Amino acid sequence: MAARVRALETILTQKGLIDPLAIDAIVETYETKVGPRNGASVVAKAWVDSEYADWLKRDATAAIAYLSYTGRQGEHMQAVFNTPDTHNLVVCTLCSCYPWSVLGLPPVWYKSPPYRSRAVIDPRGVLAEFGLTLPATTNIRVWDSTAELRYLVVPLRPAGTEGFTEDQLAALVTRDSMIGTGLPLATEAV
Ligand code: FE
Repeated sequence: MAARVRALETILTQKGLIDPLAIDAIVETYETKVGPRNGASVVAKAWVDSEYADWLKRDATAAIAYLSYTGRQGEHMQAVFNTPDTHNLVVCTLCSCYPWSVLGLPPVWYKSPPYRSRAVIDPRGVLAEFGLTLPATTNIRVWDSTAELRYLVVPLRPAGTEGFTEDQLAALVTRDSMIGTGLPLATEAV
């Protein structure tokens, strides 16, 4: 795969269709600037600011853009909020659509056929394999991403975090908790 990419990049560069510096800039952006930390700060803000949370619920694209997290694969966003009764889980059954602007690049398993099929057939079983066993009374709602619409899970704010700053809260928000395959870290982690 790496050799194919290199060959393709060489040909496109020789033909003058791409600028290698532009490719480097894009790779550098996704390696260092864009990642789950962005999504974590969206979630932390929603936890401390109910007006922001309402906005995020109504128009996630605009509320996330307000924090400057814009860009490719994040043009149309929907935030889905976990509640004590309902846990949200995100998948792309067709391919690997993922909200790059808030979560960075997807983990390998997100793109794997077993995750993509089993997340909809047996979400409870998949979550158990991620170490997340939910009470039988908790509903699991699965959201199938598309090229048009990407989802960000807003997990429940962990107990015992009253008085935490936004930064302290953001440190509890894991990537997987924003996909729905995990929960935020416990407060001792901070
Ligand atoms: Fe996809």
